[in-house]
Amino acid sequence: MNISVIGCGYVGTTTALMFCELGYQVVAVEKDSKKLAMLQQGKLPFHEPGIDSLLIKHLHRGSLVFTGDIEEGIAHSKIIYITVGTPSLPDGSSDLSFIEEVSRQIGAAQNDYKAVVIKSTVPLGTVDKVREWIGKAQKRPLPVDLVVNPEFLREGSALYDTMHPDRIVIGSDNPEAAETVKQLFHSMSCPIIVTDCNTAQLIKYTANAFLATKISFINEIGRVCDAYGANIEEVASGVGLDHRIGPHFLRAGIGWGGSCFPKDIAALINMGNNNGINLLIVQSAQQVNQDQIGYFIDRLEGELHGLNNKTVSIYGISFKPETDDIRESPALKVIAEVQRRGGTVAAYDPMVFDKHPELKLPGVRVARNMEDAWKGSDCFFLITEWDQFSKIDWGQVMQEMRTPLVLDGRNVLDARKLRSLGFRYYGIGRKTGI
Ligand code: NAD
Repeated sequence: MNISVIGCGYVGTTTALMFCELGYQVVAVEKDSKKLAMLQQGKLPFHEPGIDSLLIKHLHRGSLVFTGDIEEGIAHSKIIYITVGTPSLPDGSSDLSFIEEVSRQIGAAQNDYKAVVIKSTVPLGTVDKVREWIGKAQKRPLPVDLVVNPEFLREGSALYDTMHPDRIVIGSDNPEAAETVKQLFHSMSCPIIVTDCNTAQLIKYTANAFLATKISFINEIGRVCDAYGANIEEVASGVGLDHRIGPHFLRAGIGWGGSCFPKDIAALINMGNNNGINLLIVQSAQQVNQDQIGYFIDRLEGELHGLNNKTVSIYGISFKPETDDIRESPALKVIAEVQRRGGTVAAYDPMVFDKHPELKLPGVRVARNMEDAWKGSDCFFLITEWDQFSKIDWGQVMQEMRTPLVLDGRNVLDARKLRSLGFRYYGIGRKTGI
């Protein structure tokens, strides 16, 4: 069985490799010539653990071919996966221009029947637009079925997540097309939900909105902990033991970011607005998250009695560990806010600056290593919990910082140890004395 995948970013590349692992012959199309050249040479244009070796394995086997020629991609198979980006527009709606471009390209290149599977996260109703774009571009009327198969992977564990999903969701208005796509996953043991397109898409949006809401919720409770000296970790574990709630996504911190939560939440709110539905809970989750950066920086400003002439060292720029993805990263918002309030910034990330030499952060001193960032600094501000930050020699940090202040945006550092070493330590809801 052949499969084509169009758009080789985090999702497309992982999806292509997942299908290769399941035994299919995959042609993957990428329009960015730099990314394409790297992929063809077996190099990943982004950081994602475990993917490198699979990429080389399947290139050598010939089970995976990368091309910039969309016609080759379309001709290769009856099943065409669309995995291009769907970023946010300023009003929160989804920019469907990449989806439209691919749809038109599919229609123009089509010579026979195709099942077009949208894996990108797209608003409800998009399937009808895709059908229209494909139809208008066809040289003669040709049959096409539309299927949606949303992706739930997490960057940083993308490969594991696609190979061991909690569930697979397939939506189509044609049961036969849905069955064809379902059969692709016959060797996987997880539940497979087959439904209509809109329901499948809403499962994706609801899952992300629920997860983001859970984080915003515990962050709000973290503020109550701060006010009363209660301990957010004990609150979260006490609450999470209730099996109706569960322990996941209850870690308080600086808030959520990344390429999915912010844009998917904005798109869901936008879909509600378009239909006169005020999604109050989702809007509040978004608002709490936006406020969280200011909440931390108010604390920072208070601890340092203003940020003028103060240097803040930012640890971690990617939106989460084990990825180089900086889309909607809280660190970038923190940097902008620190600078806006008069502070200067030194920044360290173990991955981002190597992977993105083009990244410009005006006014920021980019540190070559961890030590370089804390020297002479007034605050060690952890934003992304890279594993190496858990192995820091805090005795050395104490000697080399100007002000011994640590802000822990992820509640991962050993508060007791840091305080015993003489640091002033703040993590949300981590009361003094822990
Ligand atoms: P991405 O921006 O990393 O990748 C998209 C790729 O598509 C880019 O490499 C781009 O050059 C390529 N592309 C665009 N138009 C093309 C065309 N006409 N022909 C060939 N290639 C083309 O995006 P991503 O993070 O992989 O996300 C893709 C989709 O999956 C989005 O809708 C996103 O919401 C969804 N999603 C992402 C994640 C995630 O963690 N990244 C998780 C679940 C769902």
